[in-house]
Amino acid sequence: MSSQPPSFEGDWYFEAERDGFAHGVHLRERILEEQTPFQHMEIVDSEPLGRALILDRALQTSLNDEFMYHEMIVHVPLVTHQHPDRVLVIGGGDGGTLRRVLQHPVKEPTQVEIDRAVVDACKAHLPEISDGAFDNPRARLVIGDGVQFMRDNPGGFDVVIVDSTDPIGPAVQLFQEPFYRDVARSLADDGLMVAQSSSPLFMADELSDQVKQLRKVFPIVRTYLGIVTGYPGGLWSYTIGSKRYDPTVIDQASITSTLRDRGISTRYYSGAVHHAAFALPPFIADLVA
Ligand code: SAM
Repeated sequence: MSSQPPSFEGDWYFEAERDGFAHGVHLRERILEEQTPFQHMEIVDSEPLGRALILDRALQTSLNDEFMYHEMIVHVPLVTHQHPDRVLVIGGGDGGTLRRVLQHPVKEPTQVEIDRAVVDACKAHLPEISDGAFDNPRARLVIGDGVQFMRDNPGGFDVVIVDSTDPIGPAVQLFQEPFYRDVARSLADDGLMVAQSSSPLFMADELSDQVKQLRKVFPIVRTYLGIVTGYPGGLWSYTIGSKRYDPTVIDQASITSTLRDRGISTRYYSGAVHHAAFALPPFIADLVA
């Protein structure tokens, strides 16, 4: 999320965003710092957010706000699809997405994460986020490039979830049309994908462009919003590309009963939140028009 190096000033971690905006957290401890083959990684313990993962100077997730992001990137598409058996996660090295996917009656979810170091560090220092998901016998973890995996994969997925870093470093191609074409090819006739689609406040051009690329490939493209405390400005977006199901037409009562039937309890997501999330303020509707 950040375009400039952060500064650790005394006990504070600051993340500088574009347009002269910065946000910061008061630190209790710096737990780990490592340059992996793919990115710069840090794990810190902070006062407001608890332990947190930072990649390439951008805060990715924290113990205190991970539910806001992971519930929205997983439950919205998996409730929208009527029978999500085969689910693929790309990225998501902290395991919070895989953990929420496993709450649904999916058969053998696969996760493709490029950086083993992120998985290992999160299992060691942020185990509450994956909550055992990587050891679940139903789940399969592939360490590899999601772009290459999509090019080679056999297809037949019902839902693909792109839980990636922002469009820098190893994630750049995950935001481009050729990748979305490979995803569409790998999806069943009623399949759908979702991707985190950046900050509508600070990465408006990236959001616009991503939606444009998705529209070239999918007949139904819908952007939705959520709050994630640790992300710049707090407001975050996700975008669904779908072949058949439209996430805006499911009624609230059926979302509530799907969650109940699947035994899923949530802290952020609900039937009402599902619908509210697709109500875009006009300036964001213009961005994705
Ligand atoms: N919630 C986060 C956010 O939006 O800031 C994303 C968190 S998750 C840790 C992002 C993961 O995507 C990272 O672990 C990174 O290694 C992985 N990633 C980036 N590019 C990738 C690629 N081409 N293939 C697979 N995984 C990738």
